[in-house]
Amino acid sequence: MLGLLAHKWSWRARRQAAGLPYDKPNVVYSGLVHTCWEKAAKYFDLEARVVPVDPDRTYLHGDDIAPYVDENTVAVGAIVGNTFTGQVDDVQSIDAALQQIQADKGWFVPIHVDGASGGFVAPFLAPDVVWDFRLEHVRSINLSNHKFGLVYAGMGTVVFRDRSDVPDELVFDITYLGGSAPTYSLNFSQSSVGTVLQYFQFLRLGRQGYETVMRAASDNAAYLQEKLEAFGRFTFLNEGSFMPVLAFKITDPESAGHTVYDISDALRAEGWIVPAYPLPPHGEETHVLRIVVKDDFSRSLIDLFLESAENVLKKLGGQLEPPPAAVTAKKARPIC
Ligand SMILES: *Cc1c(COP(=O)(O)O)cnc(C)c1O
Repeated sequence: MLGLLAHKWSWRARRQAAGLPYDKPNVVYSGLVHTCWEKAAKYFDLEARVVPVDPDRTYLHGDDIAPYVDENTVAVGAIVGNTFTGQVDDVQSIDAALQQIQADKGWFVPIHVDGASGGFVAPFLAPDVVWDFRLEHVRSINLSNHKFGLVYAGMGTVVFRDRSDVPDELVFDITYLGGSAPTYSLNFSQSSVGTVLQYFQFLRLGRQGYETVMRAASDNAAYLQEKLEAFGRFTFLNEGSFMPVLAFKITDPESAGHTVYDISDALRAEGWIVPAYPLPPHGEETHVLRIVVKDDFSRSLIDLFLESAENVLKKLGGQLEPPPAAVTAKKARPIC
């Protein structure tokens, strides 16, 4: 939200300086974004131009965006590890498309990268995937330290490429705490526990430690996927992604005799929370289960989970029920 707010103000300043209208700002992103993007669009009066979901390719590519971008585009959103399938947008091709647009039309459109989930994974597992400030149009990136940054819930970070990417008018200088404290945030007092712990984790684990942790999560995710694939019932939508996130659908829902919602409910009864949900608009025929493999989902825990999964699938074997409409609607969006 702080990223888009800054880009909106910078866009408006550029338009004002050029004597052009600045009353119809828009933001371009894929239908697979987290709710925070929709919130930012709504709260900051940005027209949301949503690139529809293709259930067979659940990430954004540069080829998708040209019809949505115009002179009023404040920013294009790209996701590194999306909420629905864990896939990673092709930020490099999005950057190339925006360079082309700049060359053809003269509009500079920045990219804000949502690295909430993948920002702490990509540098360690996929250093050759270029999604960050190595790309010219990437001007800001957000990370959720409380996800793969390995700290308690409640800490997020936004990083701007350059000080000039945050308009001065948005930064308040507070003196009443003593000295001078510049602040760019939407709220005031917050716990510093996450920040202190994040420093500790950086010092304790170091780059190599983070790599080891991410590698373990990735190996565990691959192990879990292999075992789940062996049930012969699921198709994985996270194929090709480096994220330790599994999103899978029932390969043949017509003849399965049960839905992903049945599986989710039955697993919950065994003590496992595995969300089931439809993909966003244009992909809503596809219903998936999602498992995020974090550092604390160990191999032995995964084996316990697989036992439950096997029990559940055996029990559900013959049952034939479509997902109750109410459940589908209620679970339409994963929350985190
Ligand atoms: C979790 C998540 C968010 C929200 O981040 P919080 O740190 O939970 O506020 C935004 N975008 C994506 C892709 C996420 O996975």
